Amino acid sequence: MIFAAFVVHGSGQSPSGDVTDAQLAVASAGKTVRLGPAGGGRAATIPIEVYVARVLAGEAEPRAAQGAHEALAVAIRTYALFNAGRHERDGFDLCDSTHCQVPRAATPATRRATLATAGRILTYQNRPAELFYSASCGGVSESASQVWPGADYPYLQVAKDDVHDEDVPWTLTMTREQIERVLARAGFEGRLRDIRIDQRNASGRVALLELDGLVPDVIRGDQFRMAVGPTTVRSTVFEIDRDGDQVRLTGRGYGHGVGMCVIGAGRRAARGESVEEILAQYYPGLDLTPLSRAMTRTAPPAPRPAPTATATRPARGVVVARVPSSSPTDAGELERMVSGAHDDLARVLGVSVAPIAVTLYGTLEDFRAVTGQPWWVSSVADGTSIDLAPLALLEQRDGLALTVRAAVAELLVAQALRDRPRWVRVGAARYFARISAASNGAAPPAGDAPRCPADAELTLAVSAVAQREAETRAQACFASRFARTGDWRSVR
Ligand SMILES: [Zn+2]
Ligand SMILES: [Zn+2]
Repeated sequence: MIFAAFVVHGSGQSPSGDVTDAQLAVASAGKTVRLGPAGGGRAATIPIEVYVARVLAGEAEPRAAQGAHEALAVAIRTYALFNAGRHERDGFDLCDSTHCQVPRAATPATRRATLATAGRILTYQNRPAELFYSASCGGVSESASQVWPGADYPYLQVAKDDVHDEDVPWTLTMTREQIERVLARAGFEGRLRDIRIDQRNASGRVALLELDGLVPDVIRGDQFRMAVGPTTVRSTVFEIDRDGDQVRLTGRGYGHGVGMCVIGAGRRAARGESVEEILAQYYPGLDLTPLSRAMTRTAPPAPRPAPTATATRPARGVVVARVPSSSPTDAGELERMVSGAHDDLARVLGVSVAPIAVTLYGTLEDFRAVTGQPWWVSSVADGTSIDLAPLALLEQRDGLALTVRAAVAELLVAQALRDRPRWVRVGAARYFARISAASNGAAPPAGDAPRCPADAELTLAVSAVAQREAETRAQACFASRFARTGDWRSVR
């Protein structure tokens, strides 16, 4: 691991000796970031090191020692490179909200730390590493796979961080009714009688909470934190005490705790640890590499121009597919498959969607980075776009053809069923994907209806098994109601 300060001589030096944006632009060596506003609007293209200095101002502890700033600058730059394809569909690389990284006005300290580490990133197997960082681990870092199922990296594991002994615990008091309201918004049904910690994981964080009286009656710790609000429940390192209607949480740390701990990095730099030591603590085993020497990730090729309508391709069925270069299925083949499914299902359902953009991902990391879904999800259909998990995974599950049919069906029913519970859309998509075009969408024979899944059973499932079970029940539930009404649009 070589760590050489990158010194830029010549133009752009300010009279005070402070690092300027012009110097950071030179140090970027032509590498830029297209930064888009999370709320919509025009994206700006800025040199990568100018971007890093701004994000550092947004994410770092303002008064931390230079070494902590430098370590975080490396993490921010690495994150930017790994996630550059995340907002491709929006026409830019990264957004300016907590979904990606939050930029603020750069300061002399953040520009200095950025220039000192310019062009250096952390690599894993010679590519920019997928990594994370958060404000404070509270004493033990978390493994990535606990927060993002499927993100299982040797360098993002549980590790003790021995700089938190002086931390003051945070507390939060809520009423049972407040928690019940918050969870109802997240798709849970019923009256909350009690809330208990059911499981802790290896880092001591709350892995599962039992929700006595609700459906589903269990929620993952990190999803509970997100449902209540990540700045309200500051971390999942907490205890619960209940006193009548009052539920009191006492916890440590702030954030998911995966990867670099910003507070901890500051304390390490203050006690004299080097940038390399800090990075080795939070990302053990990664290489600090010049950006120019790291391979960029295998992003799918740029979309081809939309094909013009021809006799063999109905105008309403314009489909643009992207596949990884290593894929045995080519883009044309996938486009024909999606077009075929669309035309088939459009006849049955009486609605159509165009154009459709479909992306088949080469790796689960890319699929997860773009969709934010856990490993057990095969496809995401939203608006006019479909994201597909890697082919090898689809083949172990329902197969490419059936996955495509279900995703296309989901796009087609989405508008008409937009104000229904989630099981109606999921159930309809699965149901219509599995019937043959010859049946013409006739309702099935009436059968027994299972209990229809609550929204949270489909959106916040705690495991692959729970997810499949809820989807199967959604399909049976849809089939049963459809049999009664004979009109898919009126199922509710
Ligand atoms: Zn974003
Ligand atoms: Zn820490």
